[in-house]
Amino acid sequence: MTPALLESFPPFNPEVRLQPPAIERWRRGTGTDVEFVHVLDSGRPGPTAMVVALTHGNELCGAIALDTLLRQDVKPLRGRLVLVFANVEAFGRFNAVEPFSSRCVDEDMNRVWDDAVLRGARHSAELRRARELAPFVDAADVLLDLHSMQEAGAPALTICGMTDKSVPLARALGQPETLLVDTGHAAGLRLIDRGGFADPGSDRQAVLVECGSHWEPASAEMALDVTLRFLRHLAMVDADWADAQLRVPAPERQRLVRVGEGVTAVTPEFRFLVPTHHLKVVPKAGTPLAEDGGRLWLTPHDECVLIMPSRRAGMAGQTMVRLGRYES
Ligand SMILES: [Zn+2]
Repeated sequence: MTPALLESFPPFNPEVRLQPPAIERWRRGTGTDVEFVHVLDSGRPGPTAMVVALTHGNELCGAIALDTLLRQDVKPLRGRLVLVFANVEAFGRFNAVEPFSSRCVDEDMNRVWDDAVLRGARHSAELRRARELAPFVDAADVLLDLHSMQEAGAPALTICGMTDKSVPLARALGQPETLLVDTGHAAGLRLIDRGGFADPGSDRQAVLVECGSHWEPASAEMALDVTLRFLRHLAMVDADWADAQLRVPAPERQRLVRVGEGVTAVTPEFRFLVPTHHLKVVPKAGTPLAEDGGRLWLTPHDECVLIMPSRRAGMAGQTMVRLGRYES
């Protein structure tokens, strides 16, 4: 067992190759008193579209994309475009020497979006900000939440939520290659799963795009690429203007991974038993995948796809990896 255990935790020394953008200039909101929220109203009928960066304070790619658009003075041709820098308090603590520590201040801001939590009595820096942002979220017809991942070289993917209703949006963007329909997180509701976004009876759609590895320039290019495609799809910007700024080749086809079981740590002793990397395929069902305080996790089916395995030490309740299969 020992060699496998060692192999499952390769040295991980992230190289921070992105500069945090200077977003202070966007502190004063547009069309609202809420800081770092810019409501750009065309004055014409159309959807209310929202693009969110910095749900996680150390994921710079989305902030770079929004900063780029705001510096270009982007204006929607129809509807309302809402650009949001979410966890600015965590982002303000970003430090390239310890880049992981500014993911959040008190708690994961992408697990607080259930009304029971938002309207509950609990307090945290993230809840305070989420409570400010909730009215904008709830007014959005369509939402794009920009993130990045911890694994070096990780290919981008779109999380379409827990139902298929936002898959057409992800396909309309044409980027990135891998699309995921998953089962959410035991630790709390994500932004894309809030309210109508998760209701098959509602027209509202939301996707979360993991644009690549934290702090790799490719993630910032992907974040801008996906955002431009999002605005073009909604006919909110001139298509030629958007196309002229696309830098990332589109994949020939997009592939959908349907996620079944999430592996959630029960104890701090959680350990992977096989080398893991994002989108790794484990060929055989029944392969020992992890152990956790005496419990053994086996792959539940052949061709099991590992989604975003965590490299952090196990914490009770933390999703360590999700397991899926490609839909043919
Ligand atoms: Zn994130």
